[in-house]
Amino acid sequence: MTVTPESDEKTDPAETAEAGSKGPFRILAADKLAAEGLEYIDSQPDCELVNKPGLSEDELAAIAGEHDGMIVRSAVQVTPKVLEKPGRLRVIARAGVGVDNIDLEAATNAGILVMNSAEASTLSTAEHAWTLLMALARYIGPAYRTMYEGGWDRSKFSGTQLADKTIGIVGFGRIGRTVAERALAFDMNVGAYDPFINARTMLDGKVKMFRSFDEMLPHADIVTFHVPLNDETRGMMGKPQFEACRNNLLIVNAARGGIVDEDEIIPALDAGQCAGVALDVFSEEPPPADSPLRQHPKVLCTPHLGASTKEGQKAVSVAAAEQLLEFLRGRGIRGAVNAPGLRVDLTPVQQRFVDLAGRMARLLNPMITRGIAQVNIELQGEDIIGAAGTIERATLVGLLADRFDEPVNVINVRQVAEKRGIKVRSITSEESGPRGSQLAIEVHGPEGAVDEKTHPKDRVRRIVGRVYDDLRPRVVEINGYYMDMIPAGDMVLLQNEDRPGMVGMVGGEFGQAEVNIADMAISRRDDTALMLLKVDTPPGKALISRLKARPGVLKVSAVRLPGEPK
Ligand code: NAD
Repeated sequence: MTVTPESDEKTDPAETAEAGSKGPFRILAADKLAAEGLEYIDSQPDCELVNKPGLSEDELAAIAGEHDGMIVRSAVQVTPKVLEKPGRLRVIARAGVGVDNIDLEAATNAGILVMNSAEASTLSTAEHAWTLLMALARYIGPAYRTMYEGGWDRSKFSGTQLADKTIGIVGFGRIGRTVAERALAFDMNVGAYDPFINARTMLDGKVKMFRSFDEMLPHADIVTFHVPLNDETRGMMGKPQFEACRNNLLIVNAARGGIVDEDEIIPALDAGQCAGVALDVFSEEPPPADSPLRQHPKVLCTPHLGASTKEGQKAVSVAAAEQLLEFLRGRGIRGAVNAPGLRVDLTPVQQRFVDLAGRMARLLNPMITRGIAQVNIELQGEDIIGAAGTIERATLVGLLADRFDEPVNVINVRQVAEKRGIKVRSITSEESGPRGSQLAIEVHGPEGAVDEKTHPKDRVRRIVGRVYDDLRPRVVEINGYYMDMIPAGDMVLLQNEDRPGMVGMVGGEFGQAEVNIADMAISRRDDTALMLLKVDTPPGKALISRLKARPGVLKVSAVRLPGEPK
């Protein structure tokens, strides 16, 4: 497991550097960053800044793996070639939002976390959307152009007052809310649509929430989009919506190109279906030089300037540096683009469950001989479900890391599983089990691969664990055999027929091989038993083979786990 949050939140970075285990971190600034971001990295005692903007693909590929983290903006291209030899590179932070210049698949496959610093540009982007809206309402673009060309035309540019008009905000996230606050200050009626917000009103009842975009649209004098671009939002302002909207509608898109269907804009404006459209973003950037959107008097365009303020650039580069170091220091993951659900800011109990998940998966591993079709991860207990994504990833790493040649870690493990068609289900419940919070891992083999003789309980491999108040992890069940043992060090699992003499025989074999048994749990199920033994030294292949050959022994496997967690 590579996610090991530091237990002492207050650790001084200088101490970390001296300890040598976490730093110094080498950080490559591969693009031209705002000076504040560079200064921030340089001022950290556990960081060595390597500032090399403008490298060619080959040059970057040659040195990328010598750094723990890389910070980029939008200029440098982080291609699969750049990430071919990832070396010690663990994280790439984009100062800003769009990660189109980073090959996410290559990064994920190489186990590299990609993050952006989207939050830092919220204010600048909201202000830009607001600027576009005001400019659109008062014909600032065409009026300026007329003046520039020597004209003076007042009657043509009689605008729209914003007070008392209704603005419909699509997407009520960071930017949408910030726009809403500004609209309220302008005495506007504010409505919003966001399918992920289940409330009738927001901002102390001042914003009315609509149940669908189509329901909100006929009420709006102005619509502004602040949603991500995806299959649901692409073209959400399209032909039917232009037909249904008010004729005086003004539209602002400072989110992503294509949310307003570009092919429908000019026909709608020319037909008088809406009154004006402001665009900061385009489906192709830059749009072709002869794009009619650049020329139309009712279209106001800016070249993707949302986050482009001095303050915005400073904020995104400092935020990217902060986030990157937070991750490298094991203190948190913010803005992750390619590792949803992964967290490092866990409580001590959650950390222990993450660690236990890896141990349990590895203990189960030798019993999985027919491949893996599905992994179910069941978490019970409100104190641990917040770590569900991380526990899932730790489980999968434990199950898959030694099965394939490629390196597997918490960043790429979902992709590794997906590529091999392994289904993963996480089932969480706030209610803990009868003896506290617990984790169960169930591995299902491919259908039809089980012979009739296999006991039904052995068809699915199942292991259950808990962490008690002393924070020590326990395994309490393996395939219907109940026990209570700390999974640590060299362990042997032995399934046998439940008959007299088996324990003595096993003890004798270990004694003869001079392998000391430190702890032992025996559990019976039907007419079989499972022995879980903790031994002081690795048992060796010869001993395992001898045990397998003894009458009454059904299965034997040996596993080496990390030592007991302190
Ligand atoms: P955010 O994640 O905080 O908010 C997005 C909101 O959209 C969320 O609340 C989400 O629930 C909602 N949403 C998702 N699907 C939806 C749907 N189908 N219909 C309605 N709402 C939906 O993001 P943010 O930081 O507010 O950014 C919003 C947009 O602005 C993003 O597309 C971002 O890329 C863009 N952006 C543009 C610039 C620029 O330079 N123009 C700068 C920064 C951000």
